[in-house]
Amino acid sequence: MKFQSTRDQSAAKFSAAQVIKQGLAADGGLFVPESIPTLTADEIKALCSADYPTRAAKILGKFLTDYTEEELLADCRAAYAPTSFVGGAAPLVALDDTIHSLELWHGPTAAFKDMALQIMPRLLSRALTKTGEERTALILVATSGDTGKAALEGYKDIDRIKIAVFYPVDGVSRVQKLQMQTQTGDNVYVCAINGNFDDAQTGVKKIFSDDQASKYLDEKGYFFSSANSINWGRLAPQIVYYVSAYCDLLNAGKLKMGEKMNVTVPTGNFGNIFAAYLAKLMGLPIDRLVCASNKNNILTDFLRTGTYDRNRDFHLTMSPSMDILISSNLERLIYFTAGTERTAKYMASLNKTGAYTVDADVKNKIDESFCGYFADEEETAKTIRRTMERCGYLADTHTAVALSAAEQYIAETGDRKPMVVASTASPYKFANDVYNSLYGETPSDPLAALDELSEKTATEIPYPLRGIGERKVRFEDVVPSANMWEAVQKYLG
Ligand SMILES: *Cc1c(COP(=O)(O)O)cnc(C)c1O
Repeated sequence: MKFQSTRDQSAAKFSAAQVIKQGLAADGGLFVPESIPTLTADEIKALCSADYPTRAAKILGKFLTDYTEEELLADCRAAYAPTSFVGGAAPLVALDDTIHSLELWHGPTAAFKDMALQIMPRLLSRALTKTGEERTALILVATSGDTGKAALEGYKDIDRIKIAVFYPVDGVSRVQKLQMQTQTGDNVYVCAINGNFDDAQTGVKKIFSDDQASKYLDEKGYFFSSANSINWGRLAPQIVYYVSAYCDLLNAGKLKMGEKMNVTVPTGNFGNIFAAYLAKLMGLPIDRLVCASNKNNILTDFLRTGTYDRNRDFHLTMSPSMDILISSNLERLIYFTAGTERTAKYMASLNKTGAYTVDADVKNKIDESFCGYFADEEETAKTIRRTMERCGYLADTHTAVALSAAEQYIAETGDRKPMVVASTASPYKFANDVYNSLYGETPSDPLAALDELSEKTATEIPYPLRGIGERKVRFEDVVPSANMWEAVQKYLG
């Protein structure tokens, strides 16, 4: 299996190891597989009796053909070990006769980013060997919260990789800050910057494109790499849990082989829902893909009108991981429905004017699989309350956006196929807002909110967040955003 850029008409080809190491294509496009491997009914049947790591190795093997079966299985067993994913890697919980919550947050940071970031560093480590790279990869991350912690947990103590994470000193929650400051591992560094998330992001980009910095690193035996969500190594592992959910529905007798399920995904960068689309293209029986947005409903508008227009207000919401106006992975869907030439044209227009409109044939193709709904802040809070009252189920703010979208879709269409809703964060990760949605008040202390939520709902705090206030703080550096490179140099020694 080879990969190419979404924008490259000459269609130069790369191996999986190369694209995982490189991240972004040289022309600014994203890497996509040159063809879609198939998943047959017999293969799905065989996966029904397999555990999650085996399911994952099998699916990954269809794309990562330059990795051996043994390598993939060993990495998947290590990544999705029961000690990391307590309660299972991606358990499917029935909320009623139709809606099922696919819980993707049982990993070490209590958010769905773990599903990819626990395996991708292992794939990168092997990619270095496979591509004859002798230097150590230095991962630089700017984070507004969730990604930084998930990347730290994923890359910690992985061979031939170091990671440095920068976050805005006043731009993350108390829990998120503590999660990062107390990070363990010998190859990790965490630093706060005086500035907002954009300053951190700009600082990282500046270091990446600074020739002096690259030269300095090269002399020391390092090179820059990124853990960005557009890396194919993060996308491929996300296909697995949709296949796994289908197997679980078969095993539970809720579907017969070949019958279709629907999927709803709370969407930000369009990575998670695009993985579901890939599963569908491979042959997994999926009918509708419901794209759920919060008040930043640019994708809802795009799916309804065919026009993507980022010239609009940006809203901070209680589902911050979906507060996004440029959904980078959407480019991959455009590529699959419009081809390289028009992808390059639309993306140039997005760069220049902040907007593009797809042609009618592209819109029709997208309509065959996708539809979009959104939930504003009030509807999100109501959904958290309603889900607790109706199903006794505690949903986080992102999952609630998706549950609302799924309910809107079902009410509008009457479609009663099993609906798999991706649940992307533990409610405890956003305990304050969840508590407030349920009880109409905010606990005085953000850390106390976890205990109070646990007591009132009789549910358990997931292990990564238990006792977080008592852990040893290791990283307290705060630097001006202009001094991020100095901080990296100091870290490397
Ligand atoms: C990252 C994230 C999302 C959005 O996923 P995309 O792949 O960017 O669409 C949704 N919910 C949570 C909790 C997240 O961390």
